[in-house]
Amino acid sequence: MALQLRPNCEFCDKDLPANSTQARICSYECTFCADCVESKLSNVCPNCGGGFVPRPIRPAREWRPGVSLENNPASTKRVHLKYALDDVAAHFARIRDIPPERR
Ligand SMILES: [Zn+2]
Ligand SMILES: [Zn+2]
Repeated sequence: MALQLRPNCEFCDKDLPANSTQARICSYECTFCADCVESKLSNVCPNCGGGFVPRPIRPAREWRPGVSLENNPASTKRVHLKYALDDVAAHFARIRDIPPERR
C-alpha cells in the first residue's frame, strides 16, 4: 500500500497537489497545509492527537518500474474535518503542551 496523497487541507480546504511542499501529514495520513499546522493546529492532529511531518513527494517520473505518481496516483477524494471547532479547541488544549514523542 502506498501512502495516500490526499488532495486538500482538511482544515482550510486549500488544494495540496501531490508535488506540494506545503502538505503536512500525521501517522494516519491526516493531511493539512503548513499554514494551518503552524498557525491553527499547534502541531496537534485534530483527529488523532499526533504531530505532523512534511508529506514526501512521490516522483512523477517512473525512475524504477512500477513506482511513480502515474502508477500510484494521488487520491481525488477531498477530506473535511469531522469535529466541531469547539471540540477541536478542547482537544488542542489537552494535548498541545505535550511533545509528540510523549503523547
Ligand atoms: Zn489549511
Ligand atoms: Zn492524525
